Amino acid sequence: MKLSKPLSLLFAAALLFGLFAPCARAESAPVIALLGPDPCCWPCGVPFEEPGFQVWDADGLREGADVRVEGELTVWRAGDYTLRYELCDGERVTASAERTVRIVPQTLPEIIAPPKGTICLSFDDGPCEDTAEVLDILAKYGVKACFFIIANQTRYLDLLPRIVAEGHTLGIHCYDHRSYGMLYRDAEHYFADLMQAQAIVREYTGQSAHVVRFPGGGRTAGFLAGTLPGGYDELYAMLADLGMREYDWNVQPESAEKTVEGTIVSFTHPHEPYEYAVVLQHDTRRFSVKALERMIQWALDEGYTFAALDETFPEIHLGA
Ligand SMILES: [Zn+2]
Repeated sequence: MKLSKPLSLLFAAALLFGLFAPCARAESAPVIALLGPDPCCWPCGVPFEEPGFQVWDADGLREGADVRVEGELTVWRAGDYTLRYELCDGERVTASAERTVRIVPQTLPEIIAPPKGTICLSFDDGPCEDTAEVLDILAKYGVKACFFIIANQTRYLDLLPRIVAEGHTLGIHCYDHRSYGMLYRDAEHYFADLMQAQAIVREYTGQSAHVVRFPGGGRTAGFLAGTLPGGYDELYAMLADLGMREYDWNVQPESAEKTVEGTIVSFTHPHEPYEYAVVLQHDTRRFSVKALERMIQWALDEGYTFAALDETFPEIHLGA
């Protein structure tokens, strides 16, 4: 590896100084040279990768030097962070350097008002046993939808590439759906869970999710919003920094009696024609999956258009 020009000059100067002023012993002092720009700008929500460093001393580049890197870096929260690098000889720090890492908010596309009569189907709590059947039904009618997944359901994660390949959107519900108390305890808990789910989405699809649905919906996430000084506004702004928008729903056809017929009747008898409908269903609820085909048939007959919800759609917040 090559030393940057200013550093080479610095070293030449240090060596010269060492030769002509032996008392200073400057030639023995090692230096940590940080690679990469300063500050190091990094997109919010993307796992940080160390740009690297080199240790130089009078003998040149010192390979495999034991450098300790310390400092808190919260990738889900935009801001400036400091990382400190220390070269140690036993307990003694013989060289140190500091790097500023700037976690930069991601940019979101403009929101586009969908044409009147747009229906966005969405399925929560998968992937699961019945997700493939949902995908088959959607494919049969050329309908695109959105899947808000629980990312720790490892048995079915192989379905994620299929969801994306067939033109649907992959949204994040959470990594672990078991305890709202734990999930919404504070920003640390919620965003750690979200980042874990996002890592799974990236691992299986090579892309990031940009739409989110809070487990229990936005009202339930009020526990979390209540822990933030800026409440819901701050919560949504933090999601925006991660390149994400949050979508609750405005149509909930699944019947209280958990019946296929009840679900179909509810969906096909809106109080007013749908203008922009975000429909909540669960691919984990058998009756809901069984109702799907007839729901689609009815909507197509009525002239509605289906679309896969993405971050360009107007947000729907039940909680704020
Ligand atoms: Zn759920």
